[in-house]
Formats: sequence, structure tokens, C-alpha cells
Amino acid sequence: MTSGGGERMAPFYCPYCGEESLEPREEHGSWFCPDCVRSFTLKFLGVGAPRTASKEIPR
Ligand SMILES: [Zn+2]
Repeated sequence: MTSGGGERMAPFYCPYCGEESLEPREEHGSWFCPDCVRSFTLKFLGVGAPRTASKEIPR
């Protein structure tokens, strides 16, 4: 991977209507969809698969 720092996460399409032409808002990580007039944010939660408390994989 050759991408440097300061990379901003960008959604590929609107999660509500599927529109691909999204406009970034002033708020960090916030996006505006002009098609359905919705604003939303993306939040990076972490790397790795989420662990399920009910199932543990025996070693
Ligand atoms: Zn939309």
C-alpha cells in the first residue's frame, strides 16, 4: 500500500438511495446526498472481525 496519511474515508454510494454523487460536508466524515437530501456520517470502528460472545473458537 502506497497511500499516505490524511486519507479520508469516502462512501461509494448513498446508503439510503444508492446515489453515487455525494458531496462532503464541512464536518469531518460527514456527507450529503443531493439526491435524497440526506446527510450522514461515516465512522471507522476498527480493524478485524467482530468477536461474538456466544461462540468461542476452541484452539
Ligand atoms: Zn441518497
